[in-house]
Amino acid sequence: MGSSKGAKNLTSSRGQGGGQLYPLIENFLNPSSPFFYLGGNMSEKEDIKHEYSYKSTIKKKYNLTDYQIDQAIEKCIIKDYKYVPNPYYRSKKSLIINNEELLQHLEEIRKLEKYSENEIKKRKEYNKRSRKVSKISFYCPICNAKIRPLRDSYTRDAVLKDEIDYENAKKVVIVTHFRHIHTDYDKIRKSVELYRYYDGPIEKILDLKIDSSKLVDKLKEEKTKEAIELAKKHGLLPPNFSKEEYDRIALKIKRMYGLT
Ligand SMILES: [Zn+2]
Repeated sequence: MGSSKGAKNLTSSRGQGGGQLYPLIENFLNPSSPFFYLGGNMSEKEDIKHEYSYKSTIKKKYNLTDYQIDQAIEKCIIKDYKYVPNPYYRSKKSLIINNEELLQHLEEIRKLEKYSENEIKKRKEYNKRSRKVSKISFYCPICNAKIRPLRDSYTRDAVLKDEIDYENAKKVVIVTHFRHIHTDYDKIRKSVELYRYYDGPIEKILDLKIDSSKLVDKLKEEKTKEAIELAKKHGLLPPNFSKEEYDRIALKIKRMYGLT
């Protein structure tokens, strides 16, 4: 009786616009559905409902890590576990664990190492990298947001490899952000307006023999100056910071990567 009542509730919840989860659960609990994960064995279904929990649920509920659960199984602290098809991805398997056994040994499992040597190493490395990146990030008052260097930027890479000091790297990050976001550099670069920066013989324009990268260089010069002045106005660069100083830092980075 109880289960048919439950099914009714599920249906009525869906009727009220209960979201996408309900049809999924319904499939999952309905023995005639191809998604029914226990193959129609009612007693096993009841068992799993009452005696076992998914690893993801256990992790959240008891604040355990994957490694602690893996270790508990490896050390035979937990013996009653099994793999069932994942309710959302049929090709994947989910680990379910006996609740009672887990509770019996919870304190012991909590004492296990939270992370593997490899995970600890990776976390340390990750923290080290993010500390470095945050040292060259800045708060942009125009965007009203913290700006980080782009993932593929040479400046970020050079900082991660300790090849440039934070102070100079941050200046490049600020100028680059201002040039791309707070001047019309990108807009002009991609439009015919770029030809405004051409001052050679007119015949070349007609023959379309102009090297547009030279025009982009000129545009970049102009917009970098503009970006520097704007960033200074917002107090992000020292008042005496010049385009020449910027070029000097940028050239250093370019040389590191063989870009000149
Ligand atoms: Zn901004």
